[in-house]
Amino acid sequence: MREDICTLPVVDIFKEKCGCPICNMEFMLEERITDYILGAAMMEPDIRIKTNEEGFCKNHILKMYQKNAKLQLSLMLSTYINELKTNLLKNPKKAAETLNGCFICNRIKKGKENMINTLLINFENSSEFRKLAEDSEYFCPKHALELYNKAGKKYMKHYYKDFQKMVIEKAQSKLNSVYKNLLGFSKLYDYNFKNDKTLKENYEEGLLKSVEFLTGKK
Ligand SMILES: [Zn+2]
Ligand SMILES: [Zn+2]
Repeated sequence: MREDICTLPVVDIFKEKCGCPICNMEFMLEERITDYILGAAMMEPDIRIKTNEEGFCKNHILKMYQKNAKLQLSLMLSTYINELKTNLLKNPKKAAETLNGCFICNRIKKGKENMINTLLINFENSSEFRKLAEDSEYFCPKHALELYNKAGKKYMKHYYKDFQKMVIEKAQSKLNSVYKNLLGFSKLYDYNFKNDKTLKENYEEGLLKSVEFLTGKK
């Protein structure tokens, strides 16, 4: 598999300034890898060997099904199922590994790891990138903690504390606004605020926005 499929320019992701950059990174990697295995990779037999071996999670089988590549998907799944049938009889341990694994999840994880390393190096070495990262809309709590734990002296001699502070503060401020949205939304059901138009305008979508945030849909 070509290395560049699992790598995207980190700076471009931060230039988007919309949502959590690491959620966006995962989403973009997922799209790329899914398109790749249903496209160019069909011509690469070694990829088929790996997809048969590593399997697919439920989420990614559905994701591939939603793409417009039904023939490619049926061919890929048929060899996957065929190998699974054999392994169930002859090598149950291997079958269990395949059923609990996912080729796409594995590639996203690896690509993300490399890109986060680049991110940390950029933050340490470039004031321009530090400014760009600080301008991110927010970091979701899961990714803020992931970055917090990865920041350290290996890649960052001078700026790791600033970096840790920034990601946690951005996650915190996003959680404050989600909390405010939920409180505002629940007030819409309070009789005392029945005629409050501003409240309605501001918080009508409060629950939807919070659910979208918590499920990573936005
Ligand atoms: Zn995130
Ligand atoms: Zn998966």
